[in-house]
Amino acid sequence: MGDLDDDQALAIATLARGLQGALARLEDTGLQHLPRPAFAAVAARPPHAAMPARAARVRAAPPARASAGEPAPAPAPAPAPVPTLAPAPAPALSGPAASAVTSILESGIDNAQKLERLRLEDIGECTRCKLHRGRSRLVFGVGNPNAALVFVGEGPGADEDRQGIPFVGQAGKLLTRMIEAMGFARDDVYICNVVKCRPPSNRDPEPDEVEACEPFLQAQLAVLRPLAIVALGRHAAQTLLRTKTPITRMRGTWQEYRGIPLMPTYHPSYLLREEVDPSKKRKREAWSDLQVVMKLFGKERAH
Ligand code: SF4
Repeated sequence: MGDLDDDQALAIATLARGLQGALARLEDTGLQHLPRPAFAAVAARPPHAAMPARAARVRAAPPARASAGEPAPAPAPAPAPVPTLAPAPAPALSGPAASAVTSILESGIDNAQKLERLRLEDIGECTRCKLHRGRSRLVFGVGNPNAALVFVGEGPGADEDRQGIPFVGQAGKLLTRMIEAMGFARDDVYICNVVKCRPPSNRDPEPDEVEACEPFLQAQLAVLRPLAIVALGRHAAQTLLRTKTPITRMRGTWQEYRGIPLMPTYHPSYLLREEVDPSKKRKREAWSDLQVVMKLFGKERAH
């Protein structure tokens, strides 16, 4: 890569990984040949060029932003190519989630019943991690059991703990406004969290708590099989993507969770904290991220 600088080389390497993943998935569907003009158009497009809504898309991760003297951060996870708005193949589960949910997935009942069984039979009055000690109510998830779009947050807060419903406090109201601004109703989508019980004093969930609870999130997503996921905040994005990459480097760029396009963006609580910031920079960035999701669903608006 003789004349390329590090950022350009990283962008090209990321693009190549994304293309490799896309080709592997297409091969899995039995496709033997790509239509040459479409492939040529994708290959010729610069990584950051505007992309048409329904065409095959591959978007490179943004280049690393390192200050002078600081070590360069680890590269962001390879972004997911988003060839079409189409159902992903059934996510491959592993570990505890597989045994917990396989019988439910194969049961032939509808999604609402599958989620109900998961909640009542597999999670039950869960004591698998220490968060159970402080909870009032376990907060499983809410919304359309056939949702095409799923929002995943970090964990319940005080209001959610009282009501047993995710995102019902101030952050929840902001999330509802964000969903409606995208052209959806809150009831159209599904909303859940990485951990189902409230961490004390709204602290971050600890690694052992995430490890204990994540199988339930994997199982929910395996039942729902949405067309796209929005990960709200660092914890949700890093947990689902198995990465330590900062949210500031992933947001706005399609990633992939088990074959499902995933858009990381800021958590509404974080955006609320920034309401004292007159620049509202993060809020604008979050709206820009959601507009990328809207484009996938053909819901672009002139804002
Ligand atoms: S956070 Fe998850 S694993 Fe921990 S007690 Fe609650 S439901 Fe169980």
